[in-house]
Amino acid sequence: MSIRPNPPERSLTELSRQGLRDLLLSWGEPRYRADQLYRWLFQRGVRDVEQMTDLSKSLRRHLRENEYTIGRVTLEKVRESIDGTRKLQFRLADGAAIESVLIPMPGGLFTQCLSSQVGCAMDCQFCYTGTLGLSRHLTSGEMIDQVVRAADGLPPGSRIDHIVYMGMGEPLHNFDAVVASLGVICDPDGCGYSHKRVTISTSGLVPQIDKLGRVAPVNLAISLNASNDEVRNQIMPVNKRWNIDALIEAVRRYPLPPRRKLTFEYVLLGGVNDTDDDARRLVKLLVGLPARINIIPWNPFEGTRFLRPADERVRSFQRILLDRGLTATVRVTKGLDIDAACGQLGERPSA
Ligand code: SF4
Repeated sequence: MSIRPNPPERSLTELSRQGLRDLLLSWGEPRYRADQLYRWLFQRGVRDVEQMTDLSKSLRRHLRENEYTIGRVTLEKVRESIDGTRKLQFRLADGAAIESVLIPMPGGLFTQCLSSQVGCAMDCQFCYTGTLGLSRHLTSGEMIDQVVRAADGLPPGSRIDHIVYMGMGEPLHNFDAVVASLGVICDPDGCGYSHKRVTISTSGLVPQIDKLGRVAPVNLAISLNASNDEVRNQIMPVNKRWNIDALIEAVRRYPLPPRRKLTFEYVLLGGVNDTDDDARRLVKLLVGLPARINIIPWNPFEGTRFLRPADERVRSFQRILLDRGLTATVRVTKGLDIDAACGQLGERPSA
């Protein structure tokens, strides 16, 4: 499959803070003007230059005349689940569709699950997004725009507390744009999330895990989903390139900031990876790591061969991990009725 290139467009939200400074300096504007513009774009989420009241009239006119747009992501639809989960459906400037999910937490807080690609190339067998293949990478601005525009889909009095790159796509496959997006999302003058409130989830791209550790002190989540290579090869083709041993070694090298834990996601597939022996092997793999295991009973979608495990099987699997001293939680399924649960994102043909 050929990957479509990102559409060319002059959007201000594609520029880093330095990029905005360079642009405005080239127009003869002082550096503080770029910082004002930056805060309007990312801290306040303003989309209309006319509302940027501390910018000079001539600068506002210049921005309009040079046809700079603000963002290339339009919030098209918000679907709300009976459990309070909100699925945000975005339309991109080239017509592609992506989704982002707001997961409710106690105290009026939400975790936002971001997409990093249109579709995904990783082909994990249990994931609906994987069946779509990869159309294209998202730009950094398209990722940031999901965060900025999510405020439009929030109930009054609530706020987003945590960002997870766990929506459509493999974020480390789109490494440079993801790192560029972190530069704005984690900037106090940008979206203002500290690195400890941001998590990148990966299916296991080993060289990029090493690279990420060198450039951004964010939390790391590993989508593990098997306790041996035989099963992981079958359900996650990436394992044929970097097997479990290589992945665990990379995770051990990851420079985790003090007092933080690595997250291991384990999608439990009935009859595939959910036996007590799997749980015991998982204990052996993760022993000595500051690990939190997130057990995710598989969420069904049409046309797959997998089964959701019985509740008793899920409890037995978890009990073995807990008895060996590991931190293991079972993720409460949220957003199932609106196809917003883990592994279900992506436009349906009939949507
Ligand atoms: S689980 Fe993640 S990496 Fe795997 S196919 Fe789905 S979106 Fe891609």
